[in-house]
Amino acid sequence: MRTRHVVGNWKLNGSLSANEALLKALRPAVPKAAGARFGVCVPYPYLAQVKDLLAGSGVEWGGQDCSRFDKGAYTGEVSGAMLAEFGCTYAIVGHSERRTLFGDTDSVVAEKFAAARRAKLTAILCVGETLEERERGVTEEVLARQLDAVLEQQGAAALEGALLAYEPVWAIGTGRTATAEQAQSVHAFLRGRVARKDGKVAQSLPILYGGSVKAANASELFAGPDVDGGLIGGASLVAEEFVAICQSAVARKG
Ligand code: PEP
Repeated sequence: MRTRHVVGNWKLNGSLSANEALLKALRPAVPKAAGARFGVCVPYPYLAQVKDLLAGSGVEWGGQDCSRFDKGAYTGEVSGAMLAEFGCTYAIVGHSERRTLFGDTDSVVAEKFAAARRAKLTAILCVGETLEERERGVTEEVLARQLDAVLEQQGAAALEGALLAYEPVWAIGTGRTATAEQAQSVHAFLRGRVARKDGKVAQSLPILYGGSVKAANASELFAGPDVDGGLIGGASLVAEEFVAICQSAVARKG
């Protein structure tokens, strides 16, 4: 059975006092279950606070991006090794907001993915199509291009120990989710794409769904056999919501 993951993405949200309340609520309530991992990816300045308040809890933490560079004259960047020093176990790369607002191209995302792996982080590679691309019928083409950037640059073995997250851009922060059938169908496509290179890696690769997941729809979305958990934005800022989503991942059969 593949490991399930539910990872919160706080995006550009938080304050020391709001985080403290949220983390203290999460610490005892996030379930502990064999075969499941749960974490939150927070803005960099809060990593020390998160480390302090989550250490030993079983809840993990990570960064929302990872520099493709390891060190040097790259003002504003944060390396994988720096994230690891603050106890991060996860790093998101290729989130659609990085791709569309900050110009992360497929090949830059692939380099960031490699950098996160060099730092022994669980890299979460995000892929997803826009509404316009879905309506034009090019969803699979777009996802294949985003995924192949890593597969071709680094080979399928690079996905060992990493996570893939399918996040349809039209579902992120919009309140509009993919249907469980749409999510399952894309996840099966992505797994198949990896399997063309390496069947074993494909079978063990957790693929998360992200896009307006909430306590109310998590069980249904996670029911698909290729849906191994979720990447959660808005709902990860509300302790009861996030905990309930984690519980849905644990309760999922199969
Ligand atoms: C995200 O930020 O990756 C995300 C999926 O956001 P939301 O859950 O708010 O749609």
